[in-house]
Amino acid sequence: MKSSRSSLTLVDNKPPALTGSCMCGKVTYSSSVLPSDLVNCHCQTCRRLSGAPFLTFGQFPVSAITWTSATGANAMKKMTYSDIADRTHCAECGSPISMTYKCEPEAISITAGTFDEESIRGQLPRLKSHIFVEEKVKNEWYELPPNDGVPKYSGFPSVFSKKIEEWKKVLKSPGLG
Ligand SMILES: [Zn+2]
Ligand SMILES: [Zn+2]
Repeated sequence: MKSSRSSLTLVDNKPPALTGSCMCGKVTYSSSVLPSDLVNCHCQTCRRLSGAPFLTFGQFPVSAITWTSATGANAMKKMTYSDIADRTHCAECGSPISMTYKCEPEAISITAGTFDEESIRGQLPRLKSHIFVEEKVKNEWYELPPNDGVPKYSGFPSVFSKKIEEWKKVLKSPGLG
């Protein structure tokens, strides 16, 4: 692990704010900034993809991320499970890596489980929200912590739902494509 990190090409000689990797190491990345937000998504897609009760995503500007493995972003497979977002997985081991909403192409959400814990410089933000709680595990094997002080949303927070609706309207308006 140490050898791959020390071989990173540093922009402006600054160490990255964090680095990350899939399970097999074919996908590696670095970020020049820490995530602005951390969100737990309890939707069924995230559960099936992770095999766990939820996926945690960190949000970054696309411009902050460098895909650092030899094959760069080609190490990933793009998957589309809905009309509003694209996801990526490692093409080799299948680890879920990222999600990009089509209404917000300048941002990328990266699975926080892929962060190299020891690489994180500074303080990560506190968990911002639980989203898609409506779709969360209904059985007893996973309960949300009742008093964690983190806002819970049945789907997306309403500000983001509106953004998606606006994007869909523009998409459907005549004269585009
Ligand atoms: Zn992999
Ligand atoms: Zn989800």
